[in-house]
Amino acid sequence: MSKETGISWADSTFNAWEGCTKVGPGCDNCYANTRNNRFHEGKNWGAGAPRLLRSDKYWKEPLQWEADHETFFAEHGHRQRVFCSSLADVFDNEAPAGQRERLFELIKATPRLDWLLLTKRIGNVNSMLPADHRGDPNSWGCGWANVWLGITVVNQEEADRDIPKLLKIPAAIRFLSMEPLLGAVDLVEALGMREVGARFNGWAEIDWVIVGGESGVNARPMVLGWAKEIVSQCQAAGVPVFMKQLGANPTNREGKPHLISDKKGAVLDEWPQALRVQQFPEISAWELLDKGEHKLFTHPPQPQSVRDALEKALKAADAERLRLSAEYKSRLDAGDSRMDGNMDWARLEGAVSVVSAIRALIETEGEQNGGAG
Ligand code: SF4
Repeated sequence: MSKETGISWADSTFNAWEGCTKVGPGCDNCYANTRNNRFHEGKNWGAGAPRLLRSDKYWKEPLQWEADHETFFAEHGHRQRVFCSSLADVFDNEAPAGQRERLFELIKATPRLDWLLLTKRIGNVNSMLPADHRGDPNSWGCGWANVWLGITVVNQEEADRDIPKLLKIPAAIRFLSMEPLLGAVDLVEALGMREVGARFNGWAEIDWVIVGGESGVNARPMVLGWAKEIVSQCQAAGVPVFMKQLGANPTNREGKPHLISDKKGAVLDEWPQALRVQQFPEISAWELLDKGEHKLFTHPPQPQSVRDALEKALKAADAERLRLSAEYKSRLDAGDSRMDGNMDWARLEGAVSVVSAIRALIETEGEQNGGAG
């Protein structure tokens, strides 16, 4: 059986350790900090505080979920989504020695689980992923098929600062968790709906967006119009969106409270109709690989012929990258748990390099035709 979670977009949670340091406005009323204060006297919170380690028994639980994946799929109709970490940040620079590496070993050993890594430290991610080395089966490469990489975005400033960083990290699925939503956020460029040359260069590589208001006694207000605008932007861009909760303090734009009957604003019947939407990425990363598809190119084609040619080349290069990744999966399915063997890593690395090079050319071309600001 999976470990149940009250987080409606995940099936289970796993915390490789407990403890963290607040890094932004989204952390102000951190639930995990409050919980640590209650059960561990807050000893695991803040700079220099030792993080709390987990038992070996706890670390074995995902292996059992992996063994039970067929039963889970039959019951739920999707792969088990594991939110990691709800009481920490995987990319905390004070993570206990060896624990992040141990986590990636566990993720590699459980390819039938979808691991949702949500961070507020996207700037750390590149240096903390499994290293890229030629022929190394532990390499992050173009992203692991069972890892969804997400960032928390609570306002426009964080969107402008962090989404471009997220888009630079290879990942099977990239997502935003916009909870607690603290202001209006324009995601139009991030969702690929504007001409190239806009802030995010028009890349449509955000695969999923979660929205939610803050809960708890000190919850800050969430204006329902902010959430409606994000849902509307996602729908216009064809990006799945999941409205999690209104939070404890939903209001209209004039500050008038929207009445709710529970502490989190999680009763869907009490939401404005426009917010009653709870979607997931339509198919999992494994299925994407099976079908040789990826949502890299959902933004409208640009009129410039050079750009058209570059995009065509990028599509072809990425198809080759996906083909090689599918080969990887088929070997895994055949029981090659070491995931090296016959795989031609040089070719896969070459395909990844070609994709990166073409992307850089497109970015340069976009800057010359209006410039990223
Ligand atoms: S990053 Fe997450 S776990 Fe860490 S303090 Fe902020 S809200 Fe809490």
